[in-house]
Amino acid sequence: MNLKSLTLPEMAAILKELGQPAFRAKQVFTWLHKGVRSYDEMTNLPKALREVLAEQYPICPPKVVRKQESKRDGTIKYLWQLSDGNCVETVLMRYHYGNTVCISTEVGCRMGCAFCASTLGGLVRRLEPQEMLDQVLFTQVDSGLPVSHIVLMGIGEPLDNFDNVMRFLELVNSPQGMNISMRHVSLSTCGLVPKIDELAKRKLQLTLSVSLHAPNDEVRNKIMPVNRAYPSEELLQACRRYYAETSRRISFEYAMIDGVNDSEEDARELLRRLKGLPAHFNLIPLNHVEESPLKPSSKAAVARFQKILEEGGIPATVRRTLGGDIDASCGQLRRKYNKGCN
Ligand code: SAH
Repeated sequence: MNLKSLTLPEMAAILKELGQPAFRAKQVFTWLHKGVRSYDEMTNLPKALREVLAEQYPICPPKVVRKQESKRDGTIKYLWQLSDGNCVETVLMRYHYGNTVCISTEVGCRMGCAFCASTLGGLVRRLEPQEMLDQVLFTQVDSGLPVSHIVLMGIGEPLDNFDNVMRFLELVNSPQGMNISMRHVSLSTCGLVPKIDELAKRKLQLTLSVSLHAPNDEVRNKIMPVNRAYPSEELLQACRRYYAETSRRISFEYAMIDGVNDSEEDARELLRRLKGLPAHFNLIPLNHVEESPLKPSSKAAVARFQKILEEGGIPATVRRTLGGDIDASCGQLRRKYNKGCN
């Protein structure tokens, strides 16, 4: 495993084998989590150790293939090339409460949602913990902006890469590393029920976002194939169990698609089905994807939908679209420039 995927105790074991005193592990861990590009930057380490580590555990930072910066809102999107040539995207968004990075968890995705650009070429492979961490570290290093919040909402399905994602969260949460609080992390899933239950057992303080996008199975089956494996009622039951276990309010994402899921009756059906579950809705006017016939709902339809949810007791916000001028939604940049990098 890459040295940067290891926890501090695991790193200590490796350095011990190399005959190093215990405090070295903390030094190496801290340097790696600062996003150094070479062991030579670790100036408080003996030169001989730096040479051994460089030989046995090369650092291999991802390369910037594209960087696009929005003139409107300062959003920055990176397309990174990983050491095996595959590319993933990361987006840095600037909110009043802090800088947030949206990271990818897989190269491509196998979930097949009809409106999403990330899944068009299927799943290539899952990301290693260190490859998720590198997206945060090198976004911070390249932009010069400190990152305080992380959302797992880029390319891929985080719960389909469960163990690596859990390890990544442990790493970014580490006091000797980025020390990012779990309360500053959101994890988004299309609804893998058994994995939601597994996540609940961990009792992390993160925000679980569920990509619901439909009021019932009839609509959800059409746009999200995962719904055939885990129908919406099972998903909502899992959300109720998640809340019972963690006391964390669920955040539902709802991409508003013209004539598909945006009627007044759809909003009322959601109210009925979510009764008693503490929730929040993020209404996202669909980002149009070239390859798809689906279109965003009108502003009026979104406002009407929001009003019905709120009057029924479910807080609903319309997501501010950032980076609209830079292909900033899921998987669009990778699709566009994929030719050069797998
Ligand atoms: N696989 C995870 C996380 C990645 S996608 C999930 O499904 O939740 C992050 C969010 O963007 C999801 O809610 C996803 O459904 C949504 N999304 C994907 N393509 C979109 C598009 N074209 N317009 C609006 N939202 C989209």
